[in-house]
Amino acid sequence: MVTPGRIQRRPIAKNVEMTPGSEQQGEADAPLWDYPAPAGSNGRAGSGKVAERGFRSNGDDLATEFLQRIDSLKFWKRGEKRAPHKPLLLLLALGEFQRGNDSISFADCKDRLANLLREFGPNRGPYRPEYPFWHLQSDQIWNAHLASSRKLWSEGSSPSAKALLDAQTAGGFPEPLVQLLRASPRLVSEAAQRLLERHFPETLHPDILAAVGLEIGRQSSSRKARDPRFRERILVAYQYACAVCDLDIRIGNATVGLEAAHIQWHQAGGPDIEPNGLALCTLHHKLFDLGAFTLENRLMLVSEHAHGGRQFEESLLRYHGRPIKSPIRLDHVPGHGYSNWHRKEVFKPDPRPYVVS
Ligand SMILES: [Zn+2]
Repeated sequence: MVTPGRIQRRPIAKNVEMTPGSEQQGEADAPLWDYPAPAGSNGRAGSGKVAERGFRSNGDDLATEFLQRIDSLKFWKRGEKRAPHKPLLLLLALGEFQRGNDSISFADCKDRLANLLREFGPNRGPYRPEYPFWHLQSDQIWNAHLASSRKLWSEGSSPSAKALLDAQTAGGFPEPLVQLLRASPRLVSEAAQRLLERHFPETLHPDILAAVGLEIGRQSSSRKARDPRFRERILVAYQYACAVCDLDIRIGNATVGLEAAHIQWHQAGGPDIEPNGLALCTLHHKLFDLGAFTLENRLMLVSEHAHGGRQFEESLLRYHGRPIKSPIRLDHVPGHGYSNWHRKEVFKPDPRPYVVS
């Protein structure tokens, strides 16, 4: 007998894209399944050839098509959930490409990709580098080549990490793209820049680039128009001081080291409004975007995963469990929905214990 209320029906995610034969496998708390199965995939060697058939054009058109596909990666679920798996794999592959490696073996990238997901992704482990490595093929900018000719997994299912390792799988950009990217290093930069801007806040861009060993020229940018007054409005709301540590250094009339942070990232649909903003110094902005601390009912909570010595205690731990600075206006107080998003999608749980005084 089924007890009423035991079965939870989850709302069907919007923007879900499926290809025939792909299986519904995602649950809200499962690792993010942002990957429809590659069209025509059947677990046999050579199925990665699908990507080579995908491009219809050459030269400039091919570059445009590539960037469009970068901009419109297919995700199993999206909405406000973060889906950094494919972007991080692509950034890793672009870094390798810059070093002259046209393809990377799954064996070589498995742990690196898992580490990138751990550091820059939401806390939704276990991390599954095999998913993007296989399913990026459905975006037709990636080939997975298998050395083995045996059928390694069942029709319509996803290969496990072990299956990809056993098949000595290697991934890379399809041949027409390899030629194009070799001839145009700027396209590598442009693609990387777009991936960063679409999926990560600016505070994290340098760290991600360093982690994947990618150097990009900053001249190319596809940044979407942002409200230029957001920063000013947030700094006014918090009287030009960090909401955590009160830093308010000025040189003449210029504020130094103070930034307007989005609580729910702009990349995840967070609006440019005061209840979704915090004035933070550069250090606290970065720690906030990396999930070292979060907000709950305006209390600042530090993650168990953040640690360090005296400086850590002075700049972070001493604020743990305390309310952040209030904005001047009550209607500018951080919105619960935005704080909840940050706790679920960015914060590295669990918070440290604290005593309510
Ligand atoms: Zn601060």
